[in-house]
Order: sequence, then C-alpha cells, then structure tokens
Amino acid sequence: MENCIFCKIVAGEIPSPRLYEDEKMIVIRDIQPKAKLHYLCIPKNHFALLSEMDGEKAEIVKHCFQVIPTLEKALGLEGGYRVIVNQGENGGQTVRHLHIHLLGGEKLGDF
Ligand code: AMP
Ligand code: ZN
Repeated sequence: MENCIFCKIVAGEIPSPRLYEDEKMIVIRDIQPKAKLHYLCIPKNHFALLSEMDGEKAEIVKHCFQVIPTLEKALGLEGGYRVIVNQGENGGQTVRHLHIHLLGGEKLGDF
C-alpha cells in the first residue's frame, strides 16, 4: 500500500528495529511511547480495520494474539500490560494499517 508508514516499515524502507519478526507480523517500539514500555504489533499484510477482516486476515490477527503472550518476558511485560487496537476516527486511529498496541512496564492508569 503506497504512502502507508507501516507498510514502509515492514518493507524496510523506513528503518525501525524489529524486536520480533515472523512471516506474518513484526513488533517494534512505538516512536511516541504512551507508557514506560510501548510496542506495536504490526501485521505484514496491509488492512486498516477489523471490519475488513476476511478469513485470511482473521488468521493473521489470531496469529498476532497467539504470539504476543509468548513475547511477554522478552518485552518486559510480565507484570501485565494493556492491549489496544484503535479503530477509525473516533477510536483515534492515526495510522490506517491495523496494529496492536502493547502498553506496560508500569501500572497504567484507568481509561
Ligand atoms: P494509532 O493512533 O492507533 O493509529 O497508532 C499509531 C501509532 O504509531 C502511534 O502511537 C505513533 O506514535 C506510532 N508511530 C507512528 N510512526 C511511527 C514510526 N515510524 N515508528 C514507530 N511508531 C510509529
Ligand atoms: Zn500498510
């Protein structure tokens, strides 16, 4: 997808160290962390919204949610963390490439 910053990161056109990578997803640090630890799990396939999910995309999202817990220790998230998937305008989604925020490393406030 042209002009998608996360597609460019996935393609290596914008450098961003990968804390984890497999055939379906990468995990990077958020450039503007909203908690002591703030990661982004980014599927390699471009799609913007959960509402666009078909069977193949659902498998990708499932994969992400299966892998995330296996990374807890490596990412320093053993104490717990928050998972956020912002959707659309009202959800505050600024990058229209589906991604999963992982926030932790400290006791998070209520929201
Ligand atoms: P959202 O508002 O849910 O769409 O989240 C987009 C997130 O991407 C924000 O938290 C940004 O700080 C983050 N972000 C934008 N550009 C980059 C980048 N080049 N590297 C890492 N994180 C980024
Ligand atoms: Zn994209």
